[in-house]
Amino acid sequence: MDDHEDAHQERTGEQRRTRTRESVPPALDRLDRLGRRLATTGTQRLFLGLDFDGTLAPHVDDPSAATPTAENRRVLEALSRRNGVDIAVISGRALDDVRTRVGIADIGYAGNHGLELEGASPLSDPDATRSMIQSVCERLEARLTDCEIQDKRITATVHYRTVDRENIESRVRSVVEAVVEDIESATDDSTGLRWTPGRNIVEIRPAIDWDKGDAVGRFVRRCPEECLPMYVGDDTTDEDVFRAIAPEGIGVHVGSDETAADYRVAGVEEVTTLLGWLADTGLEELVGDTNGDRRT
Ligand SMILES: [Mg+2]
Repeated sequence: MDDHEDAHQERTGEQRRTRTRESVPPALDRLDRLGRRLATTGTQRLFLGLDFDGTLAPHVDDPSAATPTAENRRVLEALSRRNGVDIAVISGRALDDVRTRVGIADIGYAGNHGLELEGASPLSDPDATRSMIQSVCERLEARLTDCEIQDKRITATVHYRTVDRENIESRVRSVVEAVVEDIESATDDSTGLRWTPGRNIVEIRPAIDWDKGDAVGRFVRRCPEECLPMYVGDDTTDEDVFRAIAPEGIGVHVGSDETAADYRVAGVEEVTTLLGWLADTGLEELVGDTNGDRRT
């Protein structure tokens, strides 16, 4: 746990500024430059991290209907069979949910914005967290009957987009605040919870200093040899990754928001093109033209 905290503090101390849309070049216009960067990086292995919703799968109104495009699934599957690249999908969804939706074996997965990892958990007491989240969900369901309460085991989300009622936002927030305080005071676990409002949602999660950037750091450290990190995502929480892998790593923001990434692509279809380029050209640049003598 200590080395993770150190790493976290080290990089949050580095104030990488976010850049406006105009100053972040489109990746697909800069593939030559990207290729040169891969060719000169000094490592011969790539870690490729990807967000799920809005990156591999188009955003849809019903989150339970989200699925990767056939093209993204195909190219990701092809990449997963290549030497010299380790892949992981890191999502805000629960781990089981994202793993099932992507459905590709032999790649890594992380859920709950990186809090839910296969193997060791960043939580000091995952069972205590799950039990707190479960109690929070039960109480919220009783008090916010018109909202959808999603129990993601170690985090929870209150959705109120479809609730047509005055002051719904402030009502949800005050109920969540009261419930979280109640549950925290009734439990011995020292971790505690925090809640953050989003667009038509409130998220409740364990109050620990751990984000998607930390999860990516763990995947990178698990690569069998030194590797170059590359990450593609559209979420606000993906900005933590872009900052964590800078300046060596390559960040690609999906969309047109301000970002700390190095490049951007317009949407899910351009993610396909970028991944296709990696499979056809980028990986060759990285490992060098070694006449088939690729590392594994
Ligand atoms: Mg996303």
